[in-house]
Amino acid sequence: MREVEDARRCLRSSHRDATRTRDADAMTSDDARAYDHLVKILLVGDSGVGKSSLLARFISDSFDEQGPTVGVDFKLKHVDVDGTRLKLTVWDTAGQERFRTLTSSYYRGAHGVVFVYDVTSRESFENARETWRKEVEMYGTIANSVKIVIGNKIDREDERTVARKEGVAFAKEYGCLFLECSAKTKVRVAEAFDELVKGILDAPGLLVDEVDDGVKLGAYADRAGGGCC
Ligand code: GDP
Ligand code: MG
Repeated sequence: MREVEDARRCLRSSHRDATRTRDADAMTSDDARAYDHLVKILLVGDSGVGKSSLLARFISDSFDEQGPTVGVDFKLKHVDVDGTRLKLTVWDTAGQERFRTLTSSYYRGAHGVVFVYDVTSRESFENARETWRKEVEMYGTIANSVKIVIGNKIDREDERTVARKEGVAFAKEYGCLFLECSAKTKVRVAEAFDELVKGILDAPGLLVDEVDDGVKLGAYADRAGGGCC
């Protein structure tokens, strides 16, 4: 019995330390104390599906026909949801997805995952459902992270090869949210990120809240097995 108590205490204190480190990081940044939670969101999917374009649309409401040229690690956006201030870090790839060489650190600690496919590309849909879902399942470190499946490029309706109901079925099978949108025409891009962020806020224990006697566990617990989404 005592060992169990000791183990719990030890776990609690290590989580408290982890939180202190993150708070310290937050305090040293120039917007210290400007947010309640730091949230990590990832974009995954085949090259060319429009991940960087969705990010540009979400962050700066812009779109470049050639596609954004520079790959970045992540972009920041502050949002306020019903009085809770979130600092979103949305991680994009710099093209490494072409070689399926995203490192495990890309996936680590993600609270939210966006699976993107192109509604005009069956291959990108199959890869989102199989390859990318499995990658997230394998490398994601937060068991109850929130996922959304996004079918992008609906402005190219004439060239569509993936039916909406197939996207819905994928999302349903793995417990993900689902939306179709267009980074080009900006239809439903904001809604997609809104849905995801609300899901993250609503997920029990996903964002660490400090409580009187320590820290709520859960957010940084290792994956406890189970399905991906
Ligand atoms: P990534 O490789 O997944 O980051 O994809 P990019 O964002 O670089 O986009 C690849 C290409 O698709 C670029 O030429 C974009 O302009 C184009 N693109 C992205 N989103 C859309 C969209 O919603 N509709 C259309 N028609 N083209 C898009
Ligand atoms: Mg890109």
